[in-house]
Amino acid sequence: MMGSGGLIVMDETDCMVDIAKFFLEFTVDESCGKCTPCRTGTMRLLELLEKITSGNGEMEDIDRLEELCDYIKSASLCGLGQTAPNPVLSTLRYFRDEYVAHVKEKRCPAGVCKKLLSFSIEADKCKGCTACARKCPVGAISGKVREAHTIDTSKCIKCGACIATCKFGAIKKG
Ligand code: SF4
Ligand code: SF4
Ligand code: SF4
Repeated sequence: MMGSGGLIVMDETDCMVDIAKFFLEFTVDESCGKCTPCRTGTMRLLELLEKITSGNGEMEDIDRLEELCDYIKSASLCGLGQTAPNPVLSTLRYFRDEYVAHVKEKRCPAGVCKKLLSFSIEADKCKGCTACARKCPVGAISGKVREAHTIDTSKCIKCGACIATCKFGAIKKG
């Protein structure tokens, strides 16, 4: 359950951990603060989701999420707190593998969580047209004309401009 009275269509380019985080951000903002399970519990949930999407998650965090969700649901005073954990619980129930990929492989399967992304150029596909290098806002791409280009990952800010620019599908996001 992601809310009430609505239907949201998503595909494989939506990260379910990021989606759960999106809904928690809303709840944290909306919580009136009257009761501790909702006021503090939702903030702790959000912190755990941020930890996982930034690549610092541990497997125990998934158990902590579930435990905290149960506590918030049963101890909150009103419907907001009682339903706040639902996006976390339902994404964990149906897309647990995505949580595990973030935690164990430090990988976002949907390619959404920026801190887990890396961009690279496939040398055999690159035509050396220089378009990506000219588009990169931080000068992270180098290479000679008609030769395969490379990305300096220490400079890359993961903006995605190069992928959108390359007409040859030579840049991959992983
Ligand atoms: S559960 Fe309801 S009463 Fe408690 S903090 Fe959240 S919004 Fe306020
Ligand atoms: S835009 Fe694509 S083909 Fe052109 S240099 Fe960059 S990666 Fe290579
Ligand atoms: S993702 Fe953005 S910053 Fe990184 S190499 Fe591509 S254009 Fe440059």
